[in-house]
Amino acid sequence: MNKNLAIMGGKPYKETAFPGWPISDERDKQYLNEVLESGKWWRMTGSKVREFESRFAQLHHVKHCLCVTNGTHAIELALTALGIQSGDEVIVPAFTFISTASATVYSNVKPIFVDVDPDTFCMIPEAFEKAITKKTKAVIPVHMAGQMCDMPRICTIAKKQNIKIIEDAAHAHGAEWDGKKAGTFGDFAIFSFQNGKIMTCGEVGALVTNDTQLYEKAYLIHGVGRPKNDRIYQHLMLGSNYRMNEFSAAILLAQLERLEEQNKKREINAKKLDELFFDFNGITPQKRLPQASLHTHYMYMFYYDKSYFGNLNRQDFVDCLIAEGIPAFIAYPTITETHIFKNECFNNRISSYKAEDTHNLSNSLKISDEVVWLPHFTLLGDEQDIVDIAKAIEKIRSLMN
Ligand SMILES: *Cc1c(COP(=O)(O)O)cnc(C)c1O
Repeated sequence: MNKNLAIMGGKPYKETAFPGWPISDERDKQYLNEVLESGKWWRMTGSKVREFESRFAQLHHVKHCLCVTNGTHAIELALTALGIQSGDEVIVPAFTFISTASATVYSNVKPIFVDVDPDTFCMIPEAFEKAITKKTKAVIPVHMAGQMCDMPRICTIAKKQNIKIIEDAAHAHGAEWDGKKAGTFGDFAIFSFQNGKIMTCGEVGALVTNDTQLYEKAYLIHGVGRPKNDRIYQHLMLGSNYRMNEFSAAILLAQLERLEEQNKKREINAKKLDELFFDFNGITPQKRLPQASLHTHYMYMFYYDKSYFGNLNRQDFVDCLIAEGIPAFIAYPTITETHIFKNECFNNRISSYKAEDTHNLSNSLKISDEVVWLPHFTLLGDEQDIVDIAKAIEKIRSLMN
């Protein structure tokens, strides 16, 4: 390989840093300190969790938000609150982060995998429709990288067959389809505030819903069955402990104040990067649909075609890119290709999962094989940062040829 590549000891193309992540300032400190000094550290005595829930629900134009321990638990809780259980099937996209599928298995529910669109990377509504059986109780569309799925279409199909919808909005805080917010389509939507997500306090998650009965049920389950303000150990429903603490809410309140501005900035910078990659040999970004009126860009995803890069394999390309100063990752594996699904490591939570349960997943497999992504904070910098991304890739391409 050429000596001028940073990975070979050459000068890195980008020597100035991208904005760091996570971002915090005096606000986070102030809110954290308020909790610390109040001595009210859990949601039953404090007010920060409630305040955050009410603001986060408002942002998504829904009635209720419930904070929980993480996004994975939010999916499990949504399934439980919807009464979905052993023997039922839930339809999930094959290209997603593992939790979308593993949380269903953990709830003793069998995930049925369907393919995603090769351009948008979102669940194909027709594939969902085709996979429905008598056992199908729910569907979990994933708003991939913050671009929403075609929810009107998915809702139409689901409603006809009385199938519940859990939007996996772990990437999509504040996202919109035709001006309608993520979370307003499904029975539930789940969010993650894990460290890498576009809003974070290290871990935790949330679910939102417009259905008051479902919210009340989820509330009971998330707090070992205890109703609000319970002081006499009432346990009205079998549940677990999924509660979030007040410190997490303090940080999330500060993060929420920055979200809309950061979403705007990523939109502007992602558009610039799309323009730079228009007609750029070897790089084809995730396609942006006009109906996706607010895309949050949790990841900037693109197909990498090694034939334009002297057949440099994808992982080596990612390593070269990192050496040039651009953080990058390879795409998720298709869920059916992961160790646990390949080897059916289900601890008897679901019965054997058979090959014939799996629908055509060729797009997912191709995306998993060819896509590279840049983390969202690379889109939080200035115009020069965006130009540098394209130029660093151009440098690698020219030196590999
Ligand atoms: C991160 C993520 C989750 C799970 O969230 P955690 O808070 O990490 O448990 C679920 N679905 C998708 C698509 C994710 O990216």
